[in-house]
Amino acid sequence: MSKEESLVGAHTSIAGSVFNSINEATSLEANCFQIFTANQRQWRAKPISAVDAKKFLQLKKDAKIKKTVSHNNYLINLGSPKKDALEISKKAFLEEIERCHSLEIDYLVFHPGSALTSTQDECLDTIADSILSFEKAVKKGKTRLLLETTAGQGTNVGYKFEHLAYIIKKVKDKIPIGVCLDTCHIFAAGYDIRDKKGFVKVFDEFAKIIGMKNLYAFHINDSKVDLGSRRDRHESLGKGKIGLECFKCLMQEKTFNNMPKILETPNEEIWRDEIQLLKNFSELKK
Ligand SMILES: [Zn+2]
Ligand SMILES: [Zn+2]
Repeated sequence: MSKEESLVGAHTSIAGSVFNSINEATSLEANCFQIFTANQRQWRAKPISAVDAKKFLQLKKDAKIKKTVSHNNYLINLGSPKKDALEISKKAFLEEIERCHSLEIDYLVFHPGSALTSTQDECLDTIADSILSFEKAVKKGKTRLLLETTAGQGTNVGYKFEHLAYIIKKVKDKIPIGVCLDTCHIFAAGYDIRDKKGFVKVFDEFAKIIGMKNLYAFHINDSKVDLGSRRDRHESLGKGKIGLECFKCLMQEKTFNNMPKILETPNEEIWRDEIQLLKNFSELKK
């Protein structure tokens, strides 16, 4: 493997055991991967045992995996206006951080939150306060928290770069923070990345509003729905409304090489081919 090889992988399954994710990544020829560290639709989760953590880290090393990413539980809403829901979300997120630390996960990706009955501004402030409450916990390990760009479905915040920039500004002095950019989500949110010109314009905007130093990872998905439709529907690469040009541009940007690019496309059967396609893009001449 050359030093320059771009990091590409997929969201692998922990069904049966957390180790299965590594076997799956190996069979996909991935050099990074994303997992849920527990069932993503339940509040109750077990901590990772020391024995399992040790085995996971050894297998990860043997498989030459360069970066690992975790995605948080779908039930968590760090911006909830409801006191009880917010408390249970914060508790569950703290447990997410602990599991990530046990497995030495590089990045914990999370959906910022939903405003529900509150305003967007109130929601963004609640999210920032929630994140700040994790200060002591995050310092116990190496995991960086990554806000995910969203499609803006329902009352979700995070579909404008300004939302993420606002949260980052409020927490960055105390929390290791950053962004995971999901190509499907930003397209559905209205950022047109379909061709080279659009791609460059959107990333210039990202640089200006959020800052490139805050970008750490990608979710690589095409979109079933049109530009600006504010719905989150992933599609296989080249089979959706975004098309392949965007992914070619992304893979050719050398500054993205070291950032994990995680497939969350719907057809797992072709992940191996999609990973190969992306790797080939990165080797094309500009
Ligand atoms: Zn995503
Ligand atoms: Zn999505």
